[in-house]
Amino acid sequence: MVKLTSVRADQILDSRGNPTVETWVSGGPGEFRAQVPSGASTGKHEALELRDGGMEFGGKGVLRAVSNVNGAISETICGKEFSGLREIDSAMIMRDGTPNKSALGANAILGVSMAAARLISSENGSELFQFLSSFSGRDPVMPVPLLNIINGGVHAGGELAVQEFQIVPSGFVKFSDALRCASEIYQHLKTHLKKKFGPLAVNIGDEGGFAPPVSRTAEALDAITVAISEAGYSPGKEVYLAIDAAASEFYRNGKYRMDGMELEPAELSDHYLSLASKYPLVSIEDPFDEEAFDDFAAFRAAAGKRLQVIGDDLYATNTSRIRLGIEKKSTSAVLIKLNQIGTVSETVDSTLLAIGAGMNTVVSHRSGETADDFIADLAVGTGTGQIKTGAPARGERVVKYNRLLEIERKHPEIGFAGHSVFSR
Ligand code: PEP
Ligand code: MG
Repeated sequence: MVKLTSVRADQILDSRGNPTVETWVSGGPGEFRAQVPSGASTGKHEALELRDGGMEFGGKGVLRAVSNVNGAISETICGKEFSGLREIDSAMIMRDGTPNKSALGANAILGVSMAAARLISSENGSELFQFLSSFSGRDPVMPVPLLNIINGGVHAGGELAVQEFQIVPSGFVKFSDALRCASEIYQHLKTHLKKKFGPLAVNIGDEGGFAPPVSRTAEALDAITVAISEAGYSPGKEVYLAIDAAASEFYRNGKYRMDGMELEPAELSDHYLSLASKYPLVSIEDPFDEEAFDDFAAFRAAAGKRLQVIGDDLYATNTSRIRLGIEKKSTSAVLIKLNQIGTVSETVDSTLLAIGAGMNTVVSHRSGETADDFIADLAVGTGTGQIKTGAPARGERVVKYNRLLEIERKHPEIGFAGHSVFSR
């Protein structure tokens, strides 16, 4: 049984300088904190992030969410005995009473859920990932990182339509070797971009990747391929490439505006496949608009086993949307974001549903982040085998990678997922 004696929240700033919610819960073993992230290319079907409107912070204040934690949520869960995290999450969901958490705000509910998970794991004398492993019934695994080292789309001021250009150092035996490789490539990419385009080319976007003055997908992939070789690695051997197109952001009136073209879904599919034949791409996230379950399915069938196809905005970590994707065979993987659904329990439910249907899962940060490292433990504990949490740079990104290093150091018995994660 678990009893929370106090639950409170404050308004803090996220990595983009916008307000977000920080939550503290207290109980038996002490006081525990969580900080809530926030997206920019948010899916239509995400749980509601409650913002104040009005003049302060351009309407982005979260004082209403904070007061929902200090008021309604505190009232609902403080001083009562709960059998575990699921019951705490259910009590908040019931109190909210809406399908998308629009009464209390997913940003109010999630912070309490995350902090409560920390309290319960401490009460059990376990680390957070160990608690999440027993909560999910999954064996811990060190995840392959997908590191976003060129930022486009709505995460940067440039002209690239594709939002994220990632390196995937999957051909290693340990997470720490994969991260070292990623860091070396990041530094070589910086040198290469500066040499080729001048010093302004190494300005960075929201997730710590560079935002060079290029407009074509192939130019960004070329730059990364050069950096991989200059760092002494072989593209397609130790290191692969991945993209998050976040295609809803460049979809208008049935067409996708990308790489100087206006493409129908079938043409866009061919364009992706042609890129995949030229570059060692292993994974494409959100290749189509967030409602295009059938276009995803056609693309997945055409890509075969060569490419992992991930749904992010498509699913919004929501079990009913994931069920539709399973039925339609839309993707081979699901992106997992805590704040898209709003509680830790429901996030684990989505993960288990996807895994049970034979899909891969990738735990993900948001473009607006904090120094909270919860998702590192979530990825290890639920054994997803993959995590994406930005470039190997900037505090709010590296805090997650550094927590993964710590877990590996303290628990060398936990194996690294490695490249076989892409052939499941
Ligand atoms: C994403 O689209 O996968 C992402 C992390 O960006 P955002 O948080 O802006 O949705
Ligand atoms: Mg995405």
